[in-house]
Amino acid sequence: MLVDVQSTLEEVAARVRPLVGQGRPAGYIPALAEVPVDRFGMAVAEVDGRVHGVGDCATPFSVQSLSKVFTLALAGDVADRVGREPSPLAFDSLAQLEQDRGVPRNPFLNAGALVTTDRLLTRTGDAAGALCRFLAEETAAPVGVDARVAASERSTGHRNVALAHLIAGYGKLDNPVDDVLDHYIRGCAIALSCADLARAALFLARGGVGATGPVLPAADAKRLNATMLVCGMYDGAGEFAYRVGLPAKSGVGGGILAVVPNRCVVCVWSPGLDRCGNSVAGVAALEAFTVLTGWSVF
Ligand code: GLU
Repeated sequence: MLVDVQSTLEEVAARVRPLVGQGRPAGYIPALAEVPVDRFGMAVAEVDGRVHGVGDCATPFSVQSLSKVFTLALAGDVADRVGREPSPLAFDSLAQLEQDRGVPRNPFLNAGALVTTDRLLTRTGDAAGALCRFLAEETAAPVGVDARVAASERSTGHRNVALAHLIAGYGKLDNPVDDVLDHYIRGCAIALSCADLARAALFLARGGVGATGPVLPAADAKRLNATMLVCGMYDGAGEFAYRVGLPAKSGVGGGILAVVPNRCVVCVWSPGLDRCGNSVAGVAALEAFTVLTGWSVF
């Protein structure tokens, strides 16, 4: 089937319009709670580099946990410190980490991302800087941290502080807890648009090859996609796989990144979240996109 991506995006936006504004923005980070819920943007970056977009696709938003995909890609092997099983508990659960004796169940839980941030910090000396540099290279655009969002999360991120100390208590952080938290928070507070995020994640649809050359060996890109498929959508991963069926990662800023291997990366943003933390309009938009295009891994 020949797909006109731009008109498909316009059709998707029209279909999900009634859902935009439903759900709630993440209230536990005060700066995110202020973002108007009536925003909706979606972009597709094709493997040949063409980018299409609709709505607020060029508006930067807080990437939050979408950063965890890039941190994991850059951190190298973390298998000695993080698992790869989905979690039935919330992304910031302390109980889960305690049950797992300081080895987070997967790299997309906050605990898991603290460990990958620690590894990236050891590897580069500047984890947040390495993330920004990578994103700037892949998008050919300046990339920055939203200082207001970072300060907001610093003042209310008690659970992340507790998680980091618990991991350190198990002897499983190599850097000082405060440094790991600082780099983790700044990585989450990066602001990027759907169009730039889709472009930056293209290596996942291209067997590990990014805009400026190989980012990962193909086998590692495959593993990263598999981890997204199983663990990328919080405790709504099963429902998302059922409705959409693509490797994806969600963030509490309302963004979702989804990969159609060998074809494209889709990024959608709308701040109203469902009970698991996934964008209500974003999930519906990805479902409509896969139905209209027939693009799927299944
Ligand atoms: N910065 C957020 C936190 O640590 C990220 C959560 C998310 O997007 O899943 O709580």
